[in-house]
Amino acid sequence: MKAIQFNLTIPRYALGLALGRVYPAALWNGLSCTSMKDVPEPQLPGPEWVRIRTRLAGICGTDTSTITLKTSPYFSPFSESPFTMGHENVGDILEVGSAAGEWQVGQRVVVNPFLWCGPRGYAPAEWCEPCQRGENNLCQRYAEGGLRPAIFMGSSRETGGSWSSVFAMHKSNLYAVPDNVSDENALMVEPFACGLHAALMDFPADDETILILGAGTIGLAQLAALRALGSRARIIVSARYGFQAEAAQRLGADEVLQVGDLYAALAERTGAKIYKPLIGKRVVVGGVDRVYECVGSDSVLDDAMRLTRSGGTVMVVGMPGQVRGLDWTAIFSQELKVRAAIGYNHAEMFKGKAHRAFQLSLDLMAAGQVDLGALVNRRYRLEDYGRALREQGDKRRHPVVKAVFEFSK
Ligand SMILES: [Zn+2]
Ligand SMILES: [Zn+2]
Repeated sequence: MKAIQFNLTIPRYALGLALGRVYPAALWNGLSCTSMKDVPEPQLPGPEWVRIRTRLAGICGTDTSTITLKTSPYFSPFSESPFTMGHENVGDILEVGSAAGEWQVGQRVVVNPFLWCGPRGYAPAEWCEPCQRGENNLCQRYAEGGLRPAIFMGSSRETGGSWSSVFAMHKSNLYAVPDNVSDENALMVEPFACGLHAALMDFPADDETILILGAGTIGLAQLAALRALGSRARIIVSARYGFQAEAAQRLGADEVLQVGDLYAALAERTGAKIYKPLIGKRVVVGGVDRVYECVGSDSVLDDAMRLTRSGGTVMVVGMPGQVRGLDWTAIFSQELKVRAAIGYNHAEMFKGKAHRAFQLSLDLMAAGQVDLGALVNRRYRLEDYGRALREQGDKRRHPVVKAVFEFSK
């Protein structure tokens, strides 16, 4: 079968860094680490696994960071190439292992891609401490157990990934998709669950003013999660493009700012005061109660700190790397609380009960509390992945929120 594979070698990496700026296609046409390959279908890694035929596979910022070689080396001990990319998915079960009997061929499922203690073959009594608490996004065994090092499907040699027509997953990571949840909504479960996790780990009070920085998939999922979970806080979203602003309006933002001068716009709305320092970015006294940083870029992280009031909270939701130009003085002088949210887990506290993030997401979708299907607004055949990646990086001409690869049956 055809698969988009990532194969890291030092010469390919160096070539990609050298060529990628002037000739981006070098990053995915095989000169650097990413290319389309003909590979055998992944087999069941064990009897508790199933194989899944892909319906839709999402293209995520994590994937493009990998392809453009921007992922931090921090993650490199937990990945072994070559691997097939792709972790956002919805598909149909194709084959069921002998000890995964509760699942059936033909069931439509979405899989949690994280390869925590469960998929690694540990019995519950042997799970690491975070996994035992249900915080399996913080698993301590990503390089141990019955699988080779990998944090999630899409960076694993054994599971395959959803950027191909077939992949494998352990039964503990499968979620049946209710009939009234569309493929598009099911595909959005993974990013939505990220927003759900960040919302529930420290749920905002209804009298807070919230700023969501970024209205790509993660920012919109953050907004949708807060609203689906019942938040009545005042939510301001900062969006770059018109199509993102429209989506944010639809998903329940009180106000969407699509402006050049975000600082001035926020000062006007919150009564904050702006000061001009000797050099560098402006200093804000006052600001919003809470920021969800959903971009992960250095300068937006810095803005997040500056725009939060004293004692307020910054939630880091977009994936950061080695940050340059973040002035810690804002954090220090305003005694900010900075919290990070990665992925989602089995202990999302909602209405006094722990929930699995994917199940809660599917339940909210089935109940009509959230509908993200319309965010899936561009489809490609896997063979056209080069065009998909090019258009992904050119939002001015291509108003893409969530692009997917679509597979024929
Ligand atoms: Zn993703
Ligand atoms: Zn674990």
